[in-house]
Amino acid sequence: MAEVILENVSKVYPGDVKAVDDVSLQIRDREFVVLVGPSGCGKSTTLRMIAGLEDITAGTIRIGERVVNGVAPKDRDIAMVFQNYALYPHMTVYKNMAFGLLLRRQFGAWDNPVGFLVAHGHWKKARAERREIDRRVRDAAEILGIRELLERRPKALSGGQRQRVAVGRAIVRYPKAFLFDEPLSNLDAKLRIGMRAELKALHRRVQTTTVYVTHDQEEAMTLGDRVVVMKDGVIHQCATPYEVYERPVNRFVAGFVGTPPMNFLTGRLLRENDRLLFDEGDQRLAVSAQHHERLARFVGQPVVMGVRPEMLRPAVDAPPHTTLNVQVSVVEPLGDRTDVYCATPKHAHLICRVEARARVAEGAPAVMQVDLDRVHYFEAGENGPNVTLGHGAD
Ligand code: ADP
Repeated sequence: MAEVILENVSKVYPGDVKAVDDVSLQIRDREFVVLVGPSGCGKSTTLRMIAGLEDITAGTIRIGERVVNGVAPKDRDIAMVFQNYALYPHMTVYKNMAFGLLLRRQFGAWDNPVGFLVAHGHWKKARAERREIDRRVRDAAEILGIRELLERRPKALSGGQRQRVAVGRAIVRYPKAFLFDEPLSNLDAKLRIGMRAELKALHRRVQTTTVYVTHDQEEAMTLGDRVVVMKDGVIHQCATPYEVYERPVNRFVAGFVGTPPMNFLTGRLLRENDRLLFDEGDQRLAVSAQHHERLARFVGQPVVMGVRPEMLRPAVDAPPHTTLNVQVSVVEPLGDRTDVYCATPKHAHLICRVEARARVAEGAPAVMQVDLDRVHYFEAGENGPNVTLGHGAD
């Protein structure tokens, strides 16, 4: 097991495509880190550079104690699981899992071990190796719950079972690190959620350093000890799922993480006597006292208020300047809660996540109370910094 460390790593593809731009990241021993971001953000390229499948244009990658920049993929002591986890169709599950080990250990052809032994004369060593491989395959099959499938061929397996075999193939290697590239994308939604939980449990058990790539923010949040949010080849935030959700460093991260996504109200800050107000163009909301100090320097300037859907609820006896008058367009009951799509005259697309029993009617006006202690304020621009966080560690 090992740390994986990236120092100022960049990748420029031919044609001057800057896929990864000066990325530094320290993945701790045994940690599960998820790289997440929209398509084209550079997450696969980053993973492929760790694996050695792409050259590094600049920077250093270390696995354990060793700088691996010039080391071939097969010598990096990592195991990778891809989205297309092509299993060998003519081999049983057992052989699919054992095959990589046989190749690596140059133990000779599976189908003709006797010939190999005779030809090379390493009887004892070969037999010990074979026993070790058998032990590893059976252990992995036990961990993954596929012991009874070992003699089947891939075509007789479900999608989820095949994926388990692909993971098993990685486990038997006892690598320093696992690299996963969207391994669950080919599975249907329900199976994906099941496999997600299995991968998490597996990591708790084998405790191997893991780097996992996905475009699915929910998958990232549920799996990662830490989540690395990328865009345009750059890391925007690297933190625990809780931190990324509760304290997004900028508007991009805030909008990327969470479903339904955070609502953004563009507006302006005003001072009225000793209080601050946020003017969304038509209605005014009072800035919570805890945000005054950080927001004072933005008075008179445009800012963006970030409101998660669950921070809006139907108002009951709400104080002035804590509510928005909205027009409801669609009500989506989800069973345990309800999503309400609505608009103010200045903001056409707002989503509120309210209690299942809340009385909100489609096509009618409603008054929504905003949890102003919990909203975020961002500087203008799509990557506008989160002003509410300040620069300290509070
Ligand atoms: P992601 O995995 O986040 O979707 P990638 O790492 O695959 O993103 O790609 C990052 C950027 O690099 C994209 O703009 C993509 O088009 C570009 N890119 C990826 N592979 C190549 C390649 N082999 N040649 C040129 N450009 C590439």
